[in-house]
Amino acid sequence: MKENTACIMNFGCQMNEYESLTITKMLDKAGYELISSADQAELVIFNTCTVRDNADEKIWNRLSSLVPQKRKNKAKKIGIMGCMVEAQREVFLKKHPEIDFLISPVELPQISKVLRDLTARSYEEYSTYELMLDEKAKFPFRTYMPIQTGCNFNCSYCIVPAVKGREVNLSPDEIFKKLDSLVEKGVKEITLLGQTINSYKHEDIKFADLLEMTALRYKGVWIRFLTSHPILFDEKIIDIVAKHENLCSYFHIPAQSGNSRILKEMKRGYTREKYLKLISKMREVKDVCISTDMICGFPSETDEEFEDSLSMMREIGYETAFMFYYSERKNTPATDMDDSIPVSIRKERLAKMIDQQLSMQGDIYQKFVGKIYKVLVENKARKGENCLKARTAGNLPVIFEGDISLIGSFVNVKIDSATSHTLLATLQD
Ligand code: SAH
Ligand code: SF4
Repeated sequence: MKENTACIMNFGCQMNEYESLTITKMLDKAGYELISSADQAELVIFNTCTVRDNADEKIWNRLSSLVPQKRKNKAKKIGIMGCMVEAQREVFLKKHPEIDFLISPVELPQISKVLRDLTARSYEEYSTYELMLDEKAKFPFRTYMPIQTGCNFNCSYCIVPAVKGREVNLSPDEIFKKLDSLVEKGVKEITLLGQTINSYKHEDIKFADLLEMTALRYKGVWIRFLTSHPILFDEKIIDIVAKHENLCSYFHIPAQSGNSRILKEMKRGYTREKYLKLISKMREVKDVCISTDMICGFPSETDEEFEDSLSMMREIGYETAFMFYYSERKNTPATDMDDSIPVSIRKERLAKMIDQQLSMQGDIYQKFVGKIYKVLVENKARKGENCLKARTAGNLPVIFEGDISLIGSFVNVKIDSATSHTLLATLQD
C-alpha cells in the first residue's frame, strides 16, 4: 500500500462518473495522490450502481478481494457511495462490516464530513466542487450537467425511483450559472443529464424551451442530452434540434421492448406503434443518430414477443443500442411477476440481440461514408500510429490520422469507410 494515495472506482451511469470526478477533485485538494490501483491505495471509494444484477456482482467480487487487505493494514480505508448503498445497506453491513463508510445518493453532501472524521484531514464542502472544470480530467473539454435528479415514473423492472427518489429539476438560473463558468474555461461539449430529461419543467419553462435557451447561450458549444422518455416526448424538441446547429443530432430514447404487451407489463406507457411513429419523426432530422436501451427476457416474454423486439430494431436501424438481460431488482413489481424466464434463456436472447445489432451496424454506418462531418477530437486512438479518436454530433466514434495538438478541438473529417463499431476517416483542411 502506498501512503497518501486514493482511488475511486466508478461503476454505472454518467451521473456516477460526474460525482466521482467531483470527489476526485475533493481528494486531490485534500492532498491525496489519485491512483488507479485499489490494491495500492490507502483510501478506496467505490461509486456503485444497482440498476442491473451484473453491476452488483462486479462490486461484490472486487470487495471480497479488497476488504481482507484491511486486516493486514489498518491504515487502509474503504468507503462505498451510490445507489447500491440505498438498496442494500444491510447487506453491506452484514457481508463486510469492516467497511469504513456507506453513503447513499441523498447523503452525498455529507461526504466531506465523513471523510474528515475518518482520515483527520480537512476537506472542502462537496457543493464547492460541483461542476468545476478539472484540467487533469481525461476530457477537460467535455462536461456533464445534471439538470434533473430522481424519477417520477414507475417502470416495473426499475430500481431507480426507489434509490434516487422523486424528480427534482434545477432552475435555468442555477444551470446557466454553472455552465457559464465552464464555457468560459473552454468547455466544448455539454451533456445535459436526467433520467427522463424531456419531463424537465421549471415554472413555465419546459425542456424544449431550456434546450433552445442553452443552444442560443452557448453558440459554439455542442449540446447533448440524455435520457429521453418516449411517452412525454414533445415534438417541439425535434424541431429545435433540427434548427440549431450546435444541438447534436442525437437522441437516446430507450424502447426497452418492441412488443406492446410487454411494454404494458413494464409500465412504459406507450405501444410499439406509438414509439415507431416518434422515431420516424426523429429520422427527419438531418444525419440524426438514435440509440436505445433494450431488455431481454422480461417476465412472461414469449419467443414471439422477443422476436418483436428484434424486428423493431431491424425496422429502426438504431445507430447504437445498449442491450441487457432482465435482472430481478428487490422491491420492484416485476420481481414478483409470474412466469419468470430462466436466466439461460434471457442470456441466449441477449446474445441473439447483440449479434443482430452488431451485424446491422456496419451496414447502417455505410450511409455516412463519403460525407464530411464536424467532429470533436477526444484523444489518441488506442490502435494505429498517429491516429486520433473523435466523436460525431451523432455520438459515433471516428478514427483518423492527425496530430495530438488537435485533441479538444473541432475538425472536419471525411468518412472513408465503416466497421460495425467505428467510422474511419481522413482529416480535411
Ligand atoms: N431513465 C432511463 C433508464 C435508466 S436505467 C429510461 O427510462 O430509459 C438504464 C437502463 O438499464 C434502462 O434503460 C434499462 O434498459 C436497464 N435496466 C433498468 N432496470 C433493469 C433491470 N431490472 N434489468 C435489466 N435492465 C434494466
Ligand atoms: Fe427507471 Fe423508468 Fe424512471 Fe427510467 S423512467 S429511471 S427506467 S423508472
